[in-house]
Amino acid sequence: MTTITLETLSKEFDDVVAVNGIDLTVRDGEFLVVVGPSGCGKSTTLRLLAGLETPTDGEIRMDSRDVTGAEPKDRNVAMVFQNYALYPHMTGRRNITFGMNAAGSFTDEEIDRRVAKAAETLDIADLLDRKPQAMSGGERQRVALGRAIVRDPDAFLMDEPLSNLDAKLRIQMRAELTRLHAELGTTTVYVTHDQTEAMTLGERVVVMDDGRIQQVDPPQALYDFPTNRFVAEFIGDPAMNMIDVELEGGAAVHDAFRIPLPAGSAEGETGAGTEPLADPDAGGRRHAVLGIRPEDLHLARERPDLGETTFDATVEVTEPLGDSLLVHCSIGNETVKMGAEPRSSLEPGGAVSVGYDPERLHLFDPETGEAFY
Ligand code: ATP
Repeated sequence: MTTITLETLSKEFDDVVAVNGIDLTVRDGEFLVVVGPSGCGKSTTLRLLAGLETPTDGEIRMDSRDVTGAEPKDRNVAMVFQNYALYPHMTGRRNITFGMNAAGSFTDEEIDRRVAKAAETLDIADLLDRKPQAMSGGERQRVALGRAIVRDPDAFLMDEPLSNLDAKLRIQMRAELTRLHAELGTTTVYVTHDQTEAMTLGERVVVMDDGRIQQVDPPQALYDFPTNRFVAEFIGDPAMNMIDVELEGGAAVHDAFRIPLPAGSAEGETGAGTEPLADPDAGGRRHAVLGIRPEDLHLARERPDLGETTFDATVEVTEPLGDSLLVHCSIGNETVKMGAEPRSSLEPGGAVSVGYDPERLHLFDPETGEAFY
C-alpha cells in the first residue's frame, strides 16, 4: 500500500510548460483519475510518476521515499498503456512474465503461481498460449493488465488503457477495472480525456488544464460544485449553459429574464466569504456568468413544483435521447439546452415557458472564471 505525493512538480519541454507546479497526494489504495483535454499535461504527469520523464522542478515521494530521480525499475510501479505494448512474437504467458524473468528475482514456481492467480482474476487462462494477433483488443488489454498485476506493484499507472476498445467493451472493462481495484486495493493513477470514464472510475477526479490542476474532488462534488468555469463546462454532457448576466438587486438579470438568487449570494458574500458580488462603482451592478446545467432547466408545465419564476423561450431543435429529450431553445439572444420528458410534444418555433431548479444555479466571475458560489 502506497501514498504518492507530488510537490510543486513541473515539466518543461523547450518552451512548452507541460506540467506547471502541481501539488497532489494520491492516497493509499485510492483509484485517482486525472482527466483533461488533449495537451493539458496528464500523460506527462503520469510519465513523471513512472520515471519515464525527469521533472524540471519539484519532488515525487512514494510513502516517505523520495523517488524524484529514481529509475523506473526502482519505483515498483506498473504501467498500462493505451496501445497495450505487448510483444507480438510472444505468447500471452511470455508477455505477462517477461518483466519478471528479466528481473531474475522470482523462482519458476513463484512465477507460475502468480500467472495462475492473474489468469484467474482476469479470466485469461485461455489466452496464455496465444499470441497477440490472435486476441481481440479487449483480450490484449486484459493480458496487459495481467502483466501489470503479476508484479504486485506498489501502484498502477494507467494511460488511457481503454481508448482503443469499442464503446461496449469499454463499458464492460470499466466495470472490470472497478472490480479489480476492489479486489487488489492497489493505489492507482488513471489518465483519460473521457469525462464519463473519469466519473465512473474515480474515487476522486483531478481535472487538469494547461499544465495545472483545476480541481480535485469526488465525482459528484466535481459535478455539483465546480470551482471554476473550466471545470463546470468540461464535466457534464451536454455541457452547462453559460449566460452573461448582471447581478442586481439580489437577482441575475438578463434581457429576457430575472432570476432571484439565494439570499446573500448576489449582494452578500461570495463563497470565499469576503468580496461582495455587486460592484458599488457600477451602481450596484456587476457582470457575471450564470451557469445552469441542461438537466436543471425544465418545461415549466412538466415541473410545476420548481417555483413560479419562469421565462419565455422559443424551441429551435429537439434531439430525442431515448430516456429524455434535449431541447435547444432561444431565450432572448441566447441559445440554451434544456432537458425535457422523452415524449414531450414540441415543435420548432413553438413558444414554451421554462423553469429551473433554484438550488442548482452557478455563478462565475467573467474575468477569472472562478465560481462565486
Ligand atoms: P493527450 O491526451 O493528447 O495525450 P495530454 O494531456 O496527455 O494530452 P501531454 O502529452 O502530457 O498532454 O502533453 C502536454 C504538453 O506537452 C503538450 O503541449 C505536448 O505537446 C507537450 N509535450 C509532451 N511531450 C513532449 C515532448 N517529449 N517534447 C516536447 N513537447 C512535449
